[in-house]
Amino acid sequence: MDFRFTPEQEAFRESVRRFAEKNLAKGARERAHASDYPFEVAKLMAGQGLLGISIAEADGGQGGALIDAVIAIETVASACPRSADVVQAGNFGPIRVLAEYGSKLQKDRYLKRLLAGESVISVGMTEPEAGSAVTDLQTTAKPEGGGYRINGSKIFTTHSKYAELMLVYVRFGPGVDGIGSVLIDTKGQGVRFGKPSTFMSGEEWVQTYFENAFVSAEMVVLKEGGFKKQIAGFNVERVGNAARSLALGRYAYERARRWAMQRKQFGRLLCEFQGLQWKFAEMKTKLDAGQLLLYRAAANADRGFPSAEETAIAKVFCNQSGFEVANESLQVMGGLGYTQEELVEYCVRRCRGWMIAGGSIEILKNRIAESVFERSFSQRPDPVR
Ligand SMILES: Cc1cc2nc3c(=O)[nH]c(=O)nc-3n(C[C@H](O)[C@H](O)[C@H](O)COP(=O)(O)OP(=O)(O)OC[C@H]3O[C@@H](n4cnc5c(N)ncnc54)[C@H](O)[C@@H]3O)c2cc1C
Repeated sequence: MDFRFTPEQEAFRESVRRFAEKNLAKGARERAHASDYPFEVAKLMAGQGLLGISIAEADGGQGGALIDAVIAIETVASACPRSADVVQAGNFGPIRVLAEYGSKLQKDRYLKRLLAGESVISVGMTEPEAGSAVTDLQTTAKPEGGGYRINGSKIFTTHSKYAELMLVYVRFGPGVDGIGSVLIDTKGQGVRFGKPSTFMSGEEWVQTYFENAFVSAEMVVLKEGGFKKQIAGFNVERVGNAARSLALGRYAYERARRWAMQRKQFGRLLCEFQGLQWKFAEMKTKLDAGQLLLYRAAANADRGFPSAEETAIAKVFCNQSGFEVANESLQVMGGLGYTQEELVEYCVRRCRGWMIAGGSIEILKNRIAESVFERSFSQRPDPVR
């Protein structure tokens, strides 16, 4: 077993590092506090080949592996935490599901602009009455005149304020087997946005209502029975979520580490106090352990989708560790860490959200328990006898 990157991966990481230092480090703080999507960063990344890293060359991607995309997201995050979201959107999110399951027509129409950084795609799964229990979703797709009428609504959707396109989970029929997905142009007829709201991270989201919105049959990505495939693709999104948790924890840790080597109190450097040394030892241990779990999930995916079990383990650990490390780093930086002069407080806020988004820690622990006991556990009440 070799824990080192290959020479090609090292060279790639170095090229991303140089790109990020040159183009993204400056302005990192402003980007973190802006609620808009940084399209200028997306276009720069497209030029650098950082969008579609693991998407096939035939589809306009780079034809690389998922681990390459992980290298890119963590290297970008080390210079500009907010820009890591652009790597996520261009590699790990619904764009990967579109590239994997979309038709030629769908890819021709949308993938090119997404890979050029000119537009962004969101994924609408969560509904007011279907959060963790996502298979309870109520948004319906009813056949009509060569297409479908969509009715329902989605909440908490990342990028919902500015995404031109949404991959929407819909119900073609009853039960889990009735679930599939369609692509919806968010500027189209029958799509209405509610009042903008803000996450703790500062990102804005809007409730999206579908009121008899028409989609042609050509815009169906996965028909009924497609839920399992959809979730298999969603595991890529989870790897990106885990990677950003760990990367933002590491960003905060690096700031705190440098601070501890220059800040003096009681006539001594902070790093000379054993109480703080042990905090750093624990943080480093969490970051390294998370890194191994993350790389295992990504590397084993090769060119396909990552395993559900390895992804769940990596996400749970990286979400928890990323948040704990960022939070402890803030503590080590004292009052300065709590101000917006530093990005450490931003890292804490962002990491907190990833413990809920993309399958909460509790739901993923349920998934891990199923692997442990090699059986499923229904979360629903027993049927009335
Ligand atoms: C920052 C952020 C970004 C998001 N982006 C998107 C997006 O782009 N698209 C999208 O569709 N959704 C998105 N979401 C929504 C997210 O997927 C849901 O918030 C999540 O699935 C949890 O659903 P809920 O909020 O309704 O909580 P609930 O399902 O109501 O859960 C509440 C609490 O109970 C726990 N819980 C629920 N069921 C169980 C159980 N069986 N066992 C143990 N604990 C349980 C949960 O873990 C949670 O802690 C985002 C959320 C956040 C915070």
